[in-house]
Amino acid sequence: MDRRLSQVSVKRIAKSAKFKRKVKNVLSFKFQFCVFRFAFCALFILFFISGCATVYNSATGRQEYRFITTSEEVKIGSDIARQIEARFKVVNDPIRQGRLNYIGQRLSVVCDRQDLIHTFKIVDEKSINAFTILGGHIYVHSGLLDFIKSDSELASVLAHELGHSAARHSAKRLETGMGYQILAGLVFHDSKYADLARAVDISVDLIIRGYSRQDELLADRLGVKYLIKSGYSPQASIDVLRRLQEKDGSGPQGIGIFLSDHPLMPERIKTVAQEIERLKTEDF
Ligand SMILES: [Zn+2]
Repeated sequence: MDRRLSQVSVKRIAKSAKFKRKVKNVLSFKFQFCVFRFAFCALFILFFISGCATVYNSATGRQEYRFITTSEEVKIGSDIARQIEARFKVVNDPIRQGRLNYIGQRLSVVCDRQDLIHTFKIVDEKSINAFTILGGHIYVHSGLLDFIKSDSELASVLAHELGHSAARHSAKRLETGMGYQILAGLVFHDSKYADLARAVDISVDLIIRGYSRQDELLADRLGVKYLIKSGYSPQASIDVLRRLQEKDGSGPQGIGIFLSDHPLMPERIKTVAQEIERLKTEDF
């Protein structure tokens, strides 16, 4: 009996040792696979970064990698603009359009982004809204034009939108939001990967989701700078934000994208006020 038991024990020990060896092999394979995957990713990032241009962005004050060139941004932006203008009615009132163009271009020439031609259009929408898409296309809802009380107030909204454009907020979000294949296609200029249609879809999705809190605050700060440089009163930003704050959550009319993802108004108003004070003593 004892002998049979010891034989069973020996078999069990042998089986257990075999099992441990298998586990060890599998773990070793998994470990090797992880190392390989890590090395592949590191190599890809290295190649990827080496294929990108590093450009100093005066809007952010930083040296930035650019995966999407300005001409690619313009191309994607034109496709998105076509979609927007097919969906929304563009207002062709020469007086309103002329006023918008005049103020917009006055701000555009002093903004940090001079490699783009900024365009300004009115869309026939009652909500109080304005938005910027890739390639320098800035849209203002007719509801916003009814809401603002002066040229300086309209300038404050456009200056904020130009801040998004100058800081490349849409382009950066697209760069981080795009999949490997599209990005690789754009970076390596390989047509088999390039899928601009998907890039357009992603961009539209990003527009709907809005910008981050930090992006909004930076656009507010840049807006103050552009207002001062172009001769408009930066106080108008505070006036517009205060009135929007009173209106926010007031019900059926809604505020739209201009406010939906924007940080809390008190923080924005405080940021704008601090920036006005800061730029009074700074040479810029
Ligand atoms: Zn914004």
